[in-house]
Amino acid sequence: MPRIHQLPPHEAQKIAAGEVVERPANALKELLENALDAGATQISVYIEDAGKQLIRIVDNGCGMSPEDAQLCYKLHTTSKVTSIDDLEKIQTFGFRGEALASISAVSKVTLITKEQEAQQGIKHALEQGNITKETTVPCTTGTDIQVHDLFYNIPARKKFLKKRETEWRHIIQLFQAFCLDYHVIHFKLFSEGKQVHNCPPAQNLTDRLTQLWGHSSAQHMIPVEKQHKQQSVTVTGAVSNHHYVRYDRNHLFFFVNKRWVKNHTLARALLKGYLNVLPPARYPAACIHIEIDPALVDINIHPRKEEVQFLHPRIVETLIQQAVREAKPGREISAQLVDKG
Ligand code: ADP
Ligand code: MG
Repeated sequence: MPRIHQLPPHEAQKIAAGEVVERPANALKELLENALDAGATQISVYIEDAGKQLIRIVDNGCGMSPEDAQLCYKLHTTSKVTSIDDLEKIQTFGFRGEALASISAVSKVTLITKEQEAQQGIKHALEQGNITKETTVPCTTGTDIQVHDLFYNIPARKKFLKKRETEWRHIIQLFQAFCLDYHVIHFKLFSEGKQVHNCPPAQNLTDRLTQLWGHSSAQHMIPVEKQHKQQSVTVTGAVSNHHYVRYDRNHLFFFVNKRWVKNHTLARALLKGYLNVLPPARYPAACIHIEIDPALVDINIHPRKEEVQFLHPRIVETLIQQAVREAKPGREISAQLVDKG
């Protein structure tokens, strides 16, 4: 075996970055969370080539001072925690302070940012995580971050990106999840310069669903609400009726304490409620928010916090099934209205 040697920091950083950023949608998620943490109420997303060429997020949040902007790409730099004790009570999304460090280690980043009180904004160009150019620019308050050429310096990783449609599907699902989670935020999504979604602040979930899926789909959504008092678990949201049929599970969204999660057990519980309602291998739409005592759920079982584990999974599953049953999505199989999405 070759002798042990220590990796140069930039190589170590590129490897570590792969844990945070596996595909364009992961980078987009981190950047959207940062925008929300910054208090943005308007967030526009611009995508080129399913995020492989460009992921750009423009927000009207608090922006950064020139000093903070200098620091934000360094590993373990964060404005959100000062010690491990803070992790318990953290309200914001970020806290590991590694998203921008990771993203800028594996792409070419351009950042423009301005705080309210500043006259001018600051613009940085970065390569390999280092600022290569710094200028001042006139701009509005907020942050505009552009991630170009993801994995340009890790060809092995770039090769494993999936085909454009697959990466785009991940992006659009993530975008929709944020829209459903934060219906008072004005989100826009553009791909190759064309507007794909425009979601101004919505009054309620139904309005948001209409913005995202159109009236023809949203009209089939039935509101649900279910509560388990002793365990203080609440399930709210909407599920589709029997007129709504899909060939895929792309319109199943679950949120636990406002965090979007992919949890197969939750999906299975929901689908059980549709056993005699939909034909086999056909799927409904659902947007389910689960509010639960944080002590009864572990959100740290996944490095990117995409999955969760419940202390009492049966309680949550039963609530979801009851919610579907009470919504009475329909008893006969009807596949006349097939939405191929
Ligand atoms: P974390 O979010 O875990 O703190 P990040 O690497 O994602 O780590 O961001 C580092 C810091 O950069 C944040 O703590 C925040 O202070 C600042 N920051 C990042 N994105 C934005 C943004 N869109 N608006 C304002 N500040 C931001
Ligand atoms: Mg962050």
